[in-house]
This record gives sequence, C-alpha cells and structure tokens, in this order.
Amino acid sequence: MSEASELPKKEKEEVAPEPEEQSDDSSEEEAAGDTEMDFLRNLFSSTLGLGSAEKVLDELTLDGVAHYIKSGKCKNIICMVGAGISTSAGIPDFRSPGTGLYANLQKYNLPYPEAIFQIDYFKKHPEPFFALAKELYPGQFKPTICHYFIKMLKDKGLLRRCYTQNIDTLERVAGLDGEDLIEAHGTFYTSHCVSFCCRKEYNLDWMKEKIFSDDIPHCDKCSSLVKPDIVFFGENLPIRFFTSMKLDFPSCDLLIIMGTSLQVQPFASLVSRVSKSCPRLLFNMEKTGQADPLFGLLGFGGGMDFDSDKAYRDVAYISTCDDGCLALAGLLGWKEELDELVKKEHARIDSQNKKEKVSENKGAAAKASTASATPESKKEE
Ligand SMILES: [Zn+2]
Repeated sequence: MSEASELPKKEKEEVAPEPEEQSDDSSEEEAAGDTEMDFLRNLFSSTLGLGSAEKVLDELTLDGVAHYIKSGKCKNIICMVGAGISTSAGIPDFRSPGTGLYANLQKYNLPYPEAIFQIDYFKKHPEPFFALAKELYPGQFKPTICHYFIKMLKDKGLLRRCYTQNIDTLERVAGLDGEDLIEAHGTFYTSHCVSFCCRKEYNLDWMKEKIFSDDIPHCDKCSSLVKPDIVFFGENLPIRFFTSMKLDFPSCDLLIIMGTSLQVQPFASLVSRVSKSCPRLLFNMEKTGQADPLFGLLGFGGGMDFDSDKAYRDVAYISTCDDGCLALAGLLGWKEELDELVKKEHARIDSQNKKEKVSENKGAAAKASTASATPESKKEE
C-alpha cells in the first residue's frame, strides 16, 4: 500500500481538524457547515442530474457484489466498520448508550455518565475511566472472522483502507497495520502523555500493566497523566481521518460497511463520499444509513437506497458481520482460505496467551516468595 505516501504535504486548509459530533466548542459549527455542504452538493447533483450514476452491479445481491469483485474491475475496496464486527469477540460497545454500560457507572460518582469519557473531567478525575477500562478490558484479544476477512482483502491487494470506529485494536491483531487503518475514534494500541509540551508515547503493554495494577498512569518524563489514544468527547478526531478520507473515497470501487448503525458523525457521512457509481454493501443486523424517507420522495439523494425503484448500487445483507463475510467469501471461492486463516491465527493467539499466563504466574510466584522472604510486616512480632 503506497497511498499514505501520496498524502498531501500538510496543506493547511486540508488538515484543519474537524471535530466529532459531541464536542461543544465553536468548531462544531464548521462540521455542521461541512455536512450542510455535502447535503447541498448531493441535492444539486441529484436534482440537476450532475455526476454520472452508472449501474456497476449486474444485480443488487451478494452474488452481484461477488461477480463484480471477481471481474477484476474492483481494485480499491474501502471497509467502514463499527462495534458490530467485534461483538462476536465478546467486546462490549464501549461508548454507545443503551449497552448497559452507562447504567453501571453509578459507583464512580460521576456528575453525569458521559463525564467518564469527557476530556476535561478525565484530566481532573482519571480514576473512574481507568477503573472502567480495567473492568472492560478483554480477557484476550481474538479478532473475529470479519476482521480476518478484511485481512484477506489486504492480502489479495484489494483493500484501499479500513475505517474503523472501534478502539479495541482487533484490526491490528488480525494483521492490518497502521497504514491500512484509519482509527477514527482512536485506539488503545498507543497512549500519550497529555502534556502538550511532552506528548511522550507509551505502548499497549505499558498501559495494560498500569491498568491492571490499579496505578493511575503518569508520564515518567514529566509526570503528567498518560491517556490511551482513544478520542474522548471534546477531542478532535485524528487528522489522518480527514486527510485520508479526501483521497481514499473518490477512488473507491466498492464500499463495504459492517457492523455500524451509521449514527455517529462525521463517520456516518463517509458513505456519501464515494462516487455515484460506487456500489455499497452493508453487513448489519438491520438496514441503516437510508436517507429520510421524505427527502427520498423528493428525489434528494445522499443516503443508502436498498429498496426503492431507483435503487441501483446499494446492497443490504442482513446478518451478523461474521456470517456476511463467510457468505461473501463462499461466493468468491475464498471460504476455505478464510477458515484456515481464522483457525491458524486463533491457535497462535491461544498459545501466546498460554505462554503469557505461565510467565505471569511465575512472576506472581516469585513476588510471593520474595514477599515471604522479606518478613517486614512480621519483624515486629
Ligand atoms: Zn510527559
């Protein structure tokens, strides 16, 4: 993948960070302005018939998508993924309301539940966030079939980029590297000192050790707080999200949207950034991303259109993400290869976890024996 090397050399207006929806500073208006521009662009192009909307798929089914991929005309696939691709790995949807998570926050005495992910609150009271991180920390990182399907797209030279809303790092564990990925809401994979003058980087092992020893992580250089690189409310999305988006989406041949309800902006608006001819495939438990029906009636495009008379490029496959990927892999003749990859990688992770457990136990045993060998507490008796 060489796309990242084609990134523009920091044109100022291109890299100006746009905020996420929840931020309450003035830049929120800029994002709203951008969405409004998208809306107007879509409105004009659809009512004036601008932009060509070629029908690329021979049928609006998973078969149609598979034929297209096999035709060799589809070389730049973008995946857009959300929490739904990680649920089969046992990872709770970290930030969305309605998952029961917010209901469990009472014990932390927060002024209001969302405060736990708010950057200003965190800087003053980091304890609740780290307590929750420990509680929710997955026992083991095991990517799902869906993650490995994306890895296969990469191995076959078909993946332009994977845009993820997830912070669980499973894409990386499955073998995608930083170049392949836009982690729109950040990641636990790396952490940084929150001091603007310092910004020292820390890795996942370092952070994990702090979290599990109930130690609030402080920078060893300047002793400021250290925070995982997940995007808190009140923080900007990573700049790479905006720079890559502008280069990736216009040249996308197929957009595969998996496990996201397309509710969180600006992520959700990405679906309208592909060309008018670009087919869009959705793997999800329900149809999502459709434009307001009223706008649809008026002929204003923009959203997904799976079922109307005018539908020509959007395909919804209602299933879990794993089942959707298995079905598509089957149609592409990749099923055995995918099964093999999942089996091999899961076995590798299992054996790695076993080794870690053994060394952890050894470590604990060693600690215990040194503790009993230094009878500090019993000295006085
Ligand atoms: Zn520091």
